[in-house]
This record gives sequence, structure tokens and C-alpha cells, in this order.
Amino acid sequence: MKSLVRSIPDFPKPGILFRDITTLIGHGEGFAASVALLADRAAEAGAQAIAGLEARGFIFGAAVAARLGLPFIPVRKPGKLPVPVLAIDYALEYGTDTLEVDPGAVAQSQKVVIVDDLIATGGTACAALTLLRRAGAVVDEALFVIDLPDLGGAERLRAAGVAVRPIMD
Ligand code: IMP
Repeated sequence: MKSLVRSIPDFPKPGILFRDITTLIGHGEGFAASVALLADRAAEAGAQAIAGLEARGFIFGAAVAARLGLPFIPVRKPGKLPVPVLAIDYALEYGTDTLEVDPGAVAQSQKVVIVDDLIATGGTACAALTLLRRAGAVVDEALFVIDLPDLGGAERLRAAGVAVRPIMD
């Protein structure tokens, strides 16, 4: 699976080595194997719902949820959900961004597993964690295709009581 992820230098900015999962999802067997692995881990963790982070977390998260027959909770960029939302702002390298969730999509004390393509600084996943916990979810597991451990995101999530299991680093 690792050989199916391509690294693109200087995207989206000079100096960044972007890990591109387009080539992984473009490979039928590779995509199926990565979804199967994530689904096994979510099932082991006792997931009752899967939360995917927009946008690439939707690709893997929705596939995992469907494979397990579980509800899928989209954690969205701002302004996309047609209902009153819970929202959280979080810091980016330059500026801030916002994530939103429909509180009605989360059942009280439901065990929700977060899925995204990649964890770097952990800012996105930590914001999603806070939002889902505010909505009433129990979140103690997060799954990623790729962890960039030097950027410390997995450590931040673990410090917040979340087990982090990437397929590769
Ligand atoms: P973090 O918030 O710094 O952990 O960044 C993770 C978020 O940014 C995830 O939602 C990723 O989809 C995205 N991201 C950051 N770096 C990369 C990359 O190299 N490839 C793909 N996505 C990335």
C-alpha cells in the first residue's frame, strides 16, 4: 500500500512534500485493502459510528462505515450543512479554519471512530475530536491511512485519550 501513495514535492506550497492518496484509491486492490484494514481496526475498537473528515476522510470513512454497516457522520467544512450546526475554529499554519457537525447525527454516548487520510500536526483531528465530544460522542480511537509522526499530531491525540492507528508512516 505504501508504494501506492505518491509524494509530490512543493505542493501546495514550496517546501511541502505532499502525500497524495489519489494513486492509492485509483488502485482497486490497494483501495480495497486499505479500507479492509481500517474497517478491521474500527470493528476491533467497537465502533458504533464512523466520522470522516472532509474531504479525503470521506473517501475512506464512508467506505469503512458501509463495509461495517455503521452510520457515517460527515465532519464538514463551514457552510455545507443545511441544519443548525456545532462548529469549532482551529489554528492552521497561517490563519484559522472551521469544522462543523450536525449534532443530530451523533447519538448520546455513541462510540465514534474518526477516520481521515492523513495526520500531520493533528490540528484538524483534535478539532474534530472536540466537536464530536461536544456533540455527545465517546471518541477514543482515530484511524489514518498515513501518519507523519515528526509533526506530532498522533502524540497530541494520544494526550487527549485517543488511540491512534495509522496504516503507514
Ligand atoms: P493536520 O491538521 O496538520 O494534522 O493536517 C491534516 C489534514 O490536512 C488532513 O485533513 C489531511 O487531509 C490534510 N493534509 C495535510 N498534509 C497532507 C498531505 O501531505 N497529504 C494529504 N493531506 C494532507
